[in-house]
Amino acid sequence: MNDTTLNADLHCHSVVSDGTLTPEQLALRAKSSGVQLWALTDHDEITGQARAAAAAQAIGLDYLSGVEISVSFLHQTVHIVGLGFDMGNVQLWQGLRQTRGGRALRAQQMADDLAQAGIHGAFEGALKYAGNHDLISRTHFARFMVETGVCKDTYEVFRKYLTEGKPGYVEHRWATLKDAVTWIRHAGGMAVIAHPARYKFSANEELALFTEFKGHGGRGVEVVTGSHSAAECLVYADAALEFGLAASRGSDFHSPAESRTDLGALPNLPAQLTPVWTLLQHRIQRAAA
Ligand code: AMP
Ligand code: MN
Ligand code: MN
Ligand code: MN
Repeated sequence: MNDTTLNADLHCHSVVSDGTLTPEQLALRAKSSGVQLWALTDHDEITGQARAAAAAQAIGLDYLSGVEISVSFLHQTVHIVGLGFDMGNVQLWQGLRQTRGGRALRAQQMADDLAQAGIHGAFEGALKYAGNHDLISRTHFARFMVETGVCKDTYEVFRKYLTEGKPGYVEHRWATLKDAVTWIRHAGGMAVIAHPARYKFSANEELALFTEFKGHGGRGVEVVTGSHSAAECLVYADAALEFGLAASRGSDFHSPAESRTDLGALPNLPAQLTPVWTLLQHRIQRAAA
């Protein structure tokens, strides 16, 4: 099945990380939106995987295990999606636990920095939104700042706060690129560069990312994502061909109230690309027909 027309959505978030729906609600929403192959990819966490797979199975939706790992590369945060790994792999669990480790302290530092800018009570405010207290993220701060009227929506929050040079930003060291790719690979999965157009790399730095990623055994890149414009899809379709990477497709859906791209509501992959699902056939958890 080298089928670029398959409605695959291989990137979204549940309450286990910074989404607002449960894995079960996401499975239903994916199915009713026409998604044919689904993966839940919570940040740095795979405790939602068994629930997502069971929910998909129950409603006749094919499933791939998923995760989105936070990585530090050349002083930026890069996200690496893992697909089709063994959910019980101990090395992956340990690596993810280590990656999540600094989030609570970082959140406290973010709140201290926001307090300096006159925004008080942000730690407790953000924690209220975190379905998983092990995974407090900037998105939870953004929701608190919308709730309290600091900004009108989360997009405004990320324009004015929480990003480099703005109040509430705290630099953080995540996993290394090599570790993230290796954990995924050794668990039998495929590593994929998430939303490459979102990074602010120079051409040389981006070349280094793609080259090192491949060198560590990474095999895919997101081409069609909710984070890419049509022009950016074409740029990374070319990059996929140039670097010999398979192409992935995913909405990066977080919330009905916040996300601009709904589950499955994406253009097809360009026809000349090899979809990641073609290479992951043996890893798909098939729903009974
Ligand atoms: P964290 O992992 O705590 O650094 O939070 C990153 C999350 O913030 C992303 O996964 C997105 O869900 C959300 N986000 C939304 N807009 C932006 C943006 N402009 N820059 C960074 N993160 C954003
Ligand atoms: Mn997120
Ligand atoms: Mn991401
Ligand atoms: Mn994401």
